[in-house]
Amino acid sequence: MHSFLRTAQRVQNTVFMFCALALFSTAHAAPGVVMSERADNVQIELIPAVGGKHCASSGGIPFNPELGIQRISDALYLQPLNSEVDESAEYLKAARQGGGIYLYLPYFKPSGTCAAADFTVKARHILWNGKWHTDELTIPAAATADKAVFFTNESAPRIVGNVYFGPDFSAATMERLQSSFTKIIAFYQSAMAVDVEQNVGVVAVITRNSGGYFGFGGDALNIIRMSYDNPRPEHVAEFETVFPRTFAHELAHKLQSEFLFTIPQGRTISEGSADFIKTLVLLDSGVIQMAEAKGIVQKALAECSKFASAQTMQEKIAQRTLNYREPFDCGMVYYFASYSASGLSGPQFMTVLRKALMGDRNYSAQWESLCLMFEPGCRNERLLDLVAGEKRFAPQAEWLAIQLQARPLPSQMATLSK
Ligand SMILES: [Zn+2]
Repeated sequence: MHSFLRTAQRVQNTVFMFCALALFSTAHAAPGVVMSERADNVQIELIPAVGGKHCASSGGIPFNPELGIQRISDALYLQPLNSEVDESAEYLKAARQGGGIYLYLPYFKPSGTCAAADFTVKARHILWNGKWHTDELTIPAAATADKAVFFTNESAPRIVGNVYFGPDFSAATMERLQSSFTKIIAFYQSAMAVDVEQNVGVVAVITRNSGGYFGFGGDALNIIRMSYDNPRPEHVAEFETVFPRTFAHELAHKLQSEFLFTIPQGRTISEGSADFIKTLVLLDSGVIQMAEAKGIVQKALAECSKFASAQTMQEKIAQRTLNYREPFDCGMVYYFASYSASGLSGPQFMTVLRKALMGDRNYSAQWESLCLMFEPGCRNERLLDLVAGEKRFAPQAEWLAIQLQARPLPSQMATLSK
């Protein structure tokens, strides 16, 4: 079981710890963690600070025992690559992704005398904070909190700008994905002022492992990582739909403040609004047309209806009985209902939603009818009904289905939402 770094609180603690260590490390030349590819492993070399003999730690191996790192010597370790989905782990630790390797750096922070180590990655091509580096890159310890790095030794990797495509896509699929990604990136930059090129890299790959499952997954850190794991032949046709949708969703998280991690309904807000924004970005950037956009919302409505039970959303959150998909589907439905009931234009609605997601409590004078944060003081009966269990949910689901038919989705967000 991988129980480390499971909660936002733990992540926060890690961030503070890095800051403190950075202060200490100024007194001595910092120790180093040097990482490179070696067969199906990441080779990890530990280099002590100047004057130190080796990286001593009280428990022997100076890494979290749950990583399963193999010790070769005091200075040399091997981390097997594993891209299998583990429900309890927050991020992939070290995984083969296409022709390269994805590493979540905080897992590899040594304990003991090398705790303040800087990371050095050695590879032909290294993707860090949206930029490519060649041969070698040193990342200061203080810069690694919550960050991932991707690197590859391929001689001709498929790199387009800050995007890496795995070698398993057909040329035609890669071209269409690239075209969609370019439209999505351009839209986020012009309409949402999210500077994707600046700090964020993108990895889109097909992954094959022995996990015996298939499906789609991703993370949105300084690398937006998207993988279709173990696709069967019938899934290949989905690539050109699934990757752009996921990309638009993951970028929407860049419009959200960390504070969403600290409130009970935060996951429903973050995933629901990301799916809401995703749909509008795909539509407004021209990646999809109105009928397909409405189809996405209708599917979410159908899926959310299946989750409706006697329990209210608050009860499900408190008792941790929310289905994994519920924050996505029911959250998105909620935001479309809020928009449909608001009477606001698309751009007006997006402007207040963005304020709310950034943690502005005064996002609108009409907050009691918009209820964008699922506030207890909400006075909008439709929205209250949507989260109040199946009896009250059903008529509102019907109402929303009619709205979807009768009204276009919000569009032309670019005009007001800056
Ligand atoms: Zn998400």
